[in-house]
Amino acid sequence: MKLLNGKELADKVKDEVKETVGQMEMNGQKVHLAVIQVGKDVASSTYVRNKQNACRYCGIMSNTYKLLNDTSEDDLIEIINMLNRNDNVNGILVQLPLPNHIDEHKVIQAIAPEKDVDGFHEINVGKLTIGEDTFVPCTTKGIIELLKENNIEIEGKHCVVVGRSNIVGKPTAIELLRHNGTVTICHSKTQGLKQICREADILVCAAGKPKFFNRDYIKEGAVVIDVGIHRQDNSKLCGDVDFDDVKDIVSAITPVPKGVGAMTVAMLMKNCVQAAQLQYSKR
Ligand code: NAD
Repeated sequence: MKLLNGKELADKVKDEVKETVGQMEMNGQKVHLAVIQVGKDVASSTYVRNKQNACRYCGIMSNTYKLLNDTSEDDLIEIINMLNRNDNVNGILVQLPLPNHIDEHKVIQAIAPEKDVDGFHEINVGKLTIGEDTFVPCTTKGIIELLKENNIEIEGKHCVVVGRSNIVGKPTAIELLRHNGTVTICHSKTQGLKQICREADILVCAAGKPKFFNRDYIKEGAVVIDVGIHRQDNSKLCGDVDFDDVKDIVSAITPVPKGVGAMTVAMLMKNCVQAAQLQYSKR
């Protein structure tokens, strides 16, 4: 069994980004990410802190706007508009989820598509879907890079993605398809999930259910990508996959932690550089 070490690859990617950012700086080009967090959700605060740390490491300037939980939708959109107009800001990220009184879709659509480093704006989702160059959502981008780095062929493989969220499931299915995988998308209403998963050469588990996928869901020799992140009662992290139960039958698997999650942040750094380079090339 091969462990697909996301942490190791993420460190390598961040070093590459750091070098590019350094070169850009020598040409007078700074890279700047604005992060907006509404409320004090504990998990969101951790993710925001990880993003800030990665920016610091890579030499990317980052400003975090921590807004009160009762911030109105209009005020939030006004801040986004201000950041859209600011030429010094290359990327804008709104940490999800947002409080219930705010329409997430409306907020994401307010971000200028060329600064949408999460790749969630409908223009970027459209471009991804028709195969144009765009910002690939970070978790998806991380999964594809991990597969490529480990020489795992996607073309012709049966790729089963469990989960159809706009953040993970759908973009991952689209990218696997773009790499010529044969893709099946499963979700909470899918019937016969076990059998479908057992047909997968590459199984992407993004159902958000701790240790849900045991060996009954996995074909011998399959590649398993575990997207889930869950804090257990003992405060340790686990994924959607019951790692200990499946480790002897898979050919490769991402661990949790140090798997997909580590890659997600590194890919955000890449998207920030992509946004900045695109913007500077138009000036
Ligand atoms: P989500 O709740 O928006 O979506 C979950 C999806 O799984 C839904 O489409 C649902 O239909 C499907 N699903 C739920 N129960 C199912 C079942 N029993 N059988 C089949 N399908 C089922 O979650 P999300 O935002 O897509 O995130 C999924 C998981 O990935 C969560 O654990 C989240 O914490 C994690 N996540 C990790 C990263 C990372 O960087 N590693 C990034 C984003 C999300």
